[in-house]
Amino acid sequence: MNMNIVCIPGDGIGPEVVAEAKKVLEKAASVYGHEINFEDILMGGASIDVHGVPLTEEAIATAKAADAVLMGSIGGNTQTSPWYKLPPEKRPEAGLLKIRKALNLFANLRPAVLYEELAAACPLKTEISEKGFDMMIMRELTGGLYFGERKTFEEDGELKAIDTLTYSESEIRRIAVKGFDIARKRRQKVTSVDKANVLDSSRLWRKVVEEVAKDYPDVTLEHMLVDNCAMQLVKNPAQFDVILTENMFGDILSDEASMVTGSIGMLASASLNDTKFGLYEPSGGSAPDIAGKGIANPIATILSASMMLRYTFDLDKEADAIDNAVKKVLTEGYRTIDIMPQDEEGKKKVKQVGTKEMGDLICERL
Ligand code: NAD
Repeated sequence: MNMNIVCIPGDGIGPEVVAEAKKVLEKAASVYGHEINFEDILMGGASIDVHGVPLTEEAIATAKAADAVLMGSIGGNTQTSPWYKLPPEKRPEAGLLKIRKALNLFANLRPAVLYEELAAACPLKTEISEKGFDMMIMRELTGGLYFGERKTFEEDGELKAIDTLTYSESEIRRIAVKGFDIARKRRQKVTSVDKANVLDSSRLWRKVVEEVAKDYPDVTLEHMLVDNCAMQLVKNPAQFDVILTENMFGDILSDEASMVTGSIGMLASASLNDTKFGLYEPSGGSAPDIAGKGIANPIATILSASMMLRYTFDLDKEADAIDNAVKKVLTEGYRTIDIMPQDEEGKKKVKQVGTKEMGDLICERL
């Protein structure tokens, strides 16, 4: 296969972790007989420094012409960086919002996996964490409460504020189809999360999801109310495969699910549109506190690259190989600083490595 991948190294640790993910992709391509053409574009602070804006129209056009985008992260220290003296629409984060909009990325995927080797970082009780978990939170990204009409006004001598939560059938259907497609590549279970006992938008969500489910008889569908889901994520996370939900519920639940894994440097993510195109990036930020030190964990970006192979290119075997190489390196006891055990006994059993060495170790095991 021939793959055209645009990379956005970005700011802070972005260029360091993207370099390792590229290396892993190149190794996987050579092992399995594929060709990759990489092209870099500037975004965020890196683009402001060169072009005066966080994302140029040319950069957007280059991204649109690619099969997929692999991103590091953008932004600097929000207290000290001169980028944050600019008006909001010229700051690094404006580039991210612009590219998401330009590429029509409506489906956000965040896997939350507890690796046996990192179970000590999980804040849940041992009897819960020892069962492990591997779930995918699928969040609608461009509709709902965050995009509805809003206003603040005065009535009867006091201020009132209104936010509107709107979803159309087509918006729900397209994300539900993605959710079921992704469940087919996993353990064939979708938990659709809503608040159908109260909200009309949730009742429509449930109706449309049930319609879509008819085309996927091999996938089990269950419905769960969002308040129950928030509890189940800490009580019994092993029960979940794909969690399919609307924008605001997904925003909150995906952060909750990430935190129970215990490590930001391990969290991959993807944002997809209605073609096979996707933007793949680690969930963390640009970590200016450790940028340039060669100690950032590249695994979240490497796992994002593996998601790209699975969801944009349908190369499941190659994606499995990367995921297994990551697991192997962890089993062998290699750790970056963020996933080091905290206790002295634990520290003696593992070996601390830097960003580049972690990338090399994963490549060697492919
Ligand atoms: P952050 O995620 O960058 O850092 C939080 C903590 O996690 C830091 O201590 C950092 O060192 C650590 N960390 C993050 N990724 C790591 C990795 N791969 N390996 C080891 N440690 C890691 O969050 P922040 O400090 O709040 O934000 C820093 C900048 O990143 C800000 O400018 C923010 O706007 C931006 N940001 C960008 C994105 C994005 O590009 N999508 C997302 C979130 C934040």
